[in-house]
Amino acid sequence: MILQGSIQKYDWGKKGSKSLISSTFLNPIQINENDYYAEYWMGTHSQGPSLVTSILPLNEKWEEANEKLKSSLKNSLCEKSSDSLVEIINDLDSNQDSNLRINENNKNIIVENESRLNSMGVNENIFIDKINKNDKNDKNDKNDKNDKDDLNEIAKIMNLNEINLCNNYPELSNILNRKLNFLFKMLSINKSLSIQVHPDKDSAKKLYSLFPQIYRDDQPKPEMVLAITPMEILCSFRPLDEIYIFVCHIKELRELIPEDVIKKVCRNDWNDKNNKREFIKLLFTSFMKNENFFMQKKTIELYQKLEQIPIERRTNEENYFIKLYNQHPGDPGCFCIFFLNIIQLKQDQAIYLEANEPHAYISGDCVEIMNSSDNVIRCGLTSKFKDIDTLCNVLTYSYGEPEILKGKTSHTLQNSFLLYKPNILNPSFEIEKITLNPSDSHLINCNNDTIIFIYQGEIVVHPSLSDHKKGAVLFLVPGNTIYIISTRKTIIYLGRTLI
Ligand SMILES: [Zn+2]
Repeated sequence: MILQGSIQKYDWGKKGSKSLISSTFLNPIQINENDYYAEYWMGTHSQGPSLVTSILPLNEKWEEANEKLKSSLKNSLCEKSSDSLVEIINDLDSNQDSNLRINENNKNIIVENESRLNSMGVNENIFIDKINKNDKNDKNDKNDKNDKDDLNEIAKIMNLNEINLCNNYPELSNILNRKLNFLFKMLSINKSLSIQVHPDKDSAKKLYSLFPQIYRDDQPKPEMVLAITPMEILCSFRPLDEIYIFVCHIKELRELIPEDVIKKVCRNDWNDKNNKREFIKLLFTSFMKNENFFMQKKTIELYQKLEQIPIERRTNEENYFIKLYNQHPGDPGCFCIFFLNIIQLKQDQAIYLEANEPHAYISGDCVEIMNSSDNVIRCGLTSKFKDIDTLCNVLTYSYGEPEILKGKTSHTLQNSFLLYKPNILNPSFEIEKITLNPSDSHLINCNNDTIIFIYQGEIVVHPSLSDHKKGAVLFLVPGNTIYIISTRKTIIYLGRTLI
């Protein structure tokens, strides 16, 4: 099935055409330079379900599913007035008088009518027909070549637009009669997301039963993130000695932790691993449970102090503190730089974020796969609700840097594949990056629900013989086998559930 994913415009996303989301999944005419394009969701999550725009003839169930799609589309079209369609065609016809030069004016007509097309369904072919017809009428024009180029460009835009012109396609879950247990995403991050934790299975159940308004399902939400461009991430606690040194040397941080707590940590035995966790817990919870106004005051004081230091003389942590402060002025979450590891992921490196591990993405572009759940417990770098008590309770206070997953490589003569799987017993999902040179072929077998999207390039899919360009998203039901051939250098990301 061909999917249209859902764009999420959170304000931490990269803006306009600078975002990897808009440049991958939209064509230039659709991009609003003032919009934040933060995330692209592929799956059946209720806050952004993917729509099915067509079904490829890949297996014996195709006809049944395709009938369902057709009747669903027919119903949505019947609901709309055909008058609006006539109106759009008239708009185009009236422009034939002036020999329909396909220039900026005509592009504008199409842009203006896009919203009406949006509300009507799949009728963009009418435009392409009109454009083609006028192409023939236009042969003698001295600007023939330019017009033809423009015509081709518009036709190309309309083709590319096909998916985005229609919001009346049925949801994937309606065609499948079920929801997916995972969500596949692309993120393009301009400023830090909130410092957060996702509960494990037991905590998720408990939180859902106690606070269903805040924690909207009873599912855990482990995630795996794979860097497309270099990424900065705060993740898991630093070792106790690092945290302790920061607490002792940064006056403003020390003032946020009671003196008796610092003494207790200092005087006790650090050799025992459990003790270390206990002390990290003690320092972190004492810090977190301060009055917010006092924390803000100390945040501002440290920022003002650090600003006086020339950049080259600041430590790495001090520079990150200033960076986060500039993104979230006065937010005490900036102090988490001194509690959590700063991880710099290179392109093609991934990390698995277990339940109960604190983390915050700071910058970069990535692919992410997770359990389909909404459960996020936040404690800083956000204007959203912070649930400090719950967060401090669910944390495991395990420390040290997370394992960096470099991807299991398999090369054939031409192709390269990188497979990323969490290094745990019975992982629930995996990501694969497939790189193909022109004319390479590759077989994708699906035993489980699988979503692929074309990040770069173009492929022909067999047996449907359909071609798919950059930004195309395909959902493969279990039992499907597809054979893809790249027509140019192509990069595909694949997300798959394993449960
Ligand atoms: Zn998260």
